Amino acid sequence: ATPTSVMAGSGRAAEYGILFKGGEHLESAQQIQTVVLDKTGTVTQGKPVLTDVIAAPGWTESELLKRVGAAEQSSEHPLAEAIVNGIREKGLLLESAASFENIPGYGVRATVSAEEILVGTRRLLADANVEVPKEGIQQMSALEEQGRTAMLVASQGQWAGIIAVADTIKDTSREAIGRLQSMGIDVIMITGDNERTARAVAEQAGIQNVLAEVLPEGKAAEVKKLQDSGRKVAMVGDGINDAPALATADIGMAIGTGTDVAMEAADITLMRGDLNSIADAIEMSRRTMGNIK
Ligand code: ADP
Ligand code: MG
Repeated sequence: ATPTSVMAGSGRAAEYGILFKGGEHLESAQQIQTVVLDKTGTVTQGKPVLTDVIAAPGWTESELLKRVGAAEQSSEHPLAEAIVNGIREKGLLLESAASFENIPGYGVRATVSAEEILVGTRRLLADANVEVPKEGIQQMSALEEQGRTAMLVASQGQWAGIIAVADTIKDTSREAIGRLQSMGIDVIMITGDNERTARAVAEQAGIQNVLAEVLPEGKAAEVKKLQDSGRKVAMVGDGINDAPALATADIGMAIGTGTDVAMEAADITLMRGDLNSIADAIEMSRRTMGNIK
């Protein structure tokens, strides 16, 4: 492509809210064979809402939620924000935690009213030797099968309950993913969330390939594996967690409504959250390079 056609292409893309950091990315986007999509905030709206509270025997819903809210208050994770907002809406006052630790990919640990509180994944509780009865695990799995993210709660080494949030897919995700697939591009969804939730969300979005329970530092390694198998890979994400994978991919695309860290690591910023911009960007590259049929 001539410098003039690249400049014209970049200008046209910008009108669609697709910002290429450099002309070379407009030239290379047409080579993409695999698109890896982050789940939360990319395929989904990224606005989780607290939907379910299950108190373990011996606990009341409000006693459980006071512990959870106090523990999550210091976390900046989108899940934590959803949980705290949901609890405040119920009119509960939250005390501040005496100590707080964020455990990336697993959850949080905090001291609330002199109790050690854990909120997070099965692994988080298992690593702390907290036993969860079969009934609790079944309730959790049932929530996950509906596409909800369910988290276990423990107090003082004992299981205390389950909370769940729902994050619905964007209206346009299914159509946008169908477009990529009909362009001959493989679509893979990647998430730190558990397999059951991930599968349910992927199914709603029309995605068959899912990489779930990937730890924050593991996303870049998964992109690298795909590249090592000879594929040209685009990564699309919005979170701080996604930045290393965005930088590793042949083309990193950041959602403009996401974090600055993701936008800095990416080659393209999609100002609209609509995933149709991915197919648009690749089509514009094909057109600029004279490869459109
Ligand atoms: P994602 O890629 O979906 O943003 P993360 O890697 O950030 O996922 O988190 C993976 C899982 O760890 C979440 O699905 C949740 O179960 C648990 N988790 C992470 N942060 C928190 C938190 N602040 N409170 C409770 N659970 C959490
Ligand atoms: Mg995300």
